[in-house]
Amino acid sequence: MKPIRTAYSDAYYCETPQPSMRKLSLVACLVKERGYAKLVKPEPVGRKELELIHQKRYVKSVMTGKGELADCAFGFWSESYRDGVLAINGGNLLAAKMALEDGIAANVGQGFHHARAEFGAGFCTFNGLALVAALNPDLSVLVIDCDEHAGDGTAELTVKIPNLTNFSICGSRMGCRESERSIVRHVERRDEAAYRKHLREALDFAASTKPALVIYQAGMDPHEDDPLARSQMTGDFLRYRDQFVMETLALELALPFFFVLAGGYQEPMAEKLVPLHARTFEIAARVKGQIRQKAHFKPMVQKLDSNIL
Ligand SMILES: [Zn+2]
Repeated sequence: MKPIRTAYSDAYYCETPQPSMRKLSLVACLVKERGYAKLVKPEPVGRKELELIHQKRYVKSVMTGKGELADCAFGFWSESYRDGVLAINGGNLLAAKMALEDGIAANVGQGFHHARAEFGAGFCTFNGLALVAALNPDLSVLVIDCDEHAGDGTAELTVKIPNLTNFSICGSRMGCRESERSIVRHVERRDEAAYRKHLREALDFAASTKPALVIYQAGMDPHEDDPLARSQMTGDFLRYRDQFVMETLALELALPFFFVLAGGYQEPMAEKLVPLHARTFEIAARVKGQIRQKAHFKPMVQKLDSNIL
């Protein structure tokens, strides 16, 4: 087992009504304590980076807490919430860089996959998955999104960001746009065979397109005890899912990737939800321990000189 370099800072924590940002510090503590992760503090993202993918009016609204868009993602605004979102998105950029250096990295945060260019939704403010692609236009980025809910915001942003592709496997489609670079596969309740087939398809897609970087949304809201789960997959199946995705990416395809927690809403968090997220780190650390040779990865090219919108 080798610890995964993992982006996290205390700024991630925010007293959200849902576990979304409340769970992060508990997960970070546990995975550090158990030796699954080595925590690395990211710099928060700034307005210029965000304006590469989001409308200026929306960015300004969240930054200042003024205007009708300020609280559209969570239903409330506070400085701590804003600072948490900026830190978490800095964590996505840092995790991308570490993934390209180490082969596997993580962010104890969200990808914020429902966030669109013009507004936030579904506990997602600024789309950290699209941001990684927009700031690295020379890298092809594939998102394998296994949250219960399809990444509709990411799918919309694939239209504006040519090096971004999204592959969602979900229990709820969320009206997600489909195209050549936005693939959506739906799973009916407890249909493990279909989920397995879709995972294989996503990884075959990765094998054939050879992205420079993969981002894995290891959502825990498909879990059968989660209040938002329609697919209601078992804990054992989610363990299989994480292991299959990470072993295939790292050991079979040698593709660099980082993962984020994504959704997961069970309470009480410490007993039910946090161990599920921690297990993803445990599996990742085991997989990292099996990588025999250090892969050669391109350095990040984070550009701010072109506004995509
Ligand atoms: Zn979700």
